[in-house]
Amino acid sequence: MLKGKVAAVTGGQRGIGRAICEKLAEYGADIAIIDMCDENAARETASAIESKGVKVRAYRCDVTDGASVKETFKAILADFGTIDILVNNAGITKDKLAMMMSEDDFEKVLDVNLSGAFRTSKEVIPVMLKKHSGKIINISSISGIIGNAGQVNYSASKAGLIGMTKSLARELASRNITCNAVAPGFVETDMTKNLPDGGKTLADSIPLRRFAKPEEIAGLVAFLASPAADYITGEVIRIDGGLAM
Ligand code: NDP
Repeated sequence: MLKGKVAAVTGGQRGIGRAICEKLAEYGADIAIIDMCDENAARETASAIESKGVKVRAYRCDVTDGASVKETFKAILADFGTIDILVNNAGITKDKLAMMMSEDDFEKVLDVNLSGAFRTSKEVIPVMLKKHSGKIINISSISGIIGNAGQVNYSASKAGLIGMTKSLARELASRNITCNAVAPGFVETDMTKNLPDGGKTLADSIPLRRFAKPEEIAGLVAFLASPAADYITGEVIRIDGGLAM
């Protein structure tokens, strides 16, 4: 389904990002992993994905550093020749009630989750414009749709991503480039592993009574990256077990 396509995934070394890399590779896409992780971790992820028979390279890059993002995309283009799919997945949390939250913690989360996606998108847009095709997929969150106490920074960044998704979709549609957002609820990753009572109370509040597995988010991203989604743009798809309906 994605054979011959090149996908760049930020935060692709672990968690949801890694599952996305694996799923896109299963469908035949070559993979550029963009992450801040150390070389050993990157090598381990890359070789797991390579075993699916596609080309994989890992790039050490901090999405808050504009120069590093530029260099990374230059290197990806030199190594792969093109980019067809960009998944903006890198994200962090720094949770606190608003009155206790420092301005620094507010800005840091915005810088990674929102401005990071802007920086990477800017690098792929000229490539996709020339090809008259491309798919940009932003990993938002239901926190960006319904808000969440203790997450004014995170919710603002994820709501911002939804606005950016819709504006990019409008800017790029005439060149056959789609831009969509995925809004997960709670997913079993490092980001949610330290919740009180192991997340049980939260899970009980979800209609489907459990957190999502990273592979389930990856399946939706792979669908949006595939030709089956060619007529979908500017959309935000919740994948939350019914939590925010
Ligand atoms: P993890 O914390 O497990 O992984 C986050 C990934 O992002 C890591 O690979 C990390 O790299 C990378 N990353 C963080 N900061 C940067 C940066 N400045 N530059 C480059 N890469 C960076 O998170 P999840 O897999 O859980 O989350 C992935 C995305 O899904 C995030 O955007 C998150 O907000 C979103 N999401 C997650 C939910 C959940 O319940 N888990 C729910 C809704 C949305 P490194 O390994 O080097 O630290």
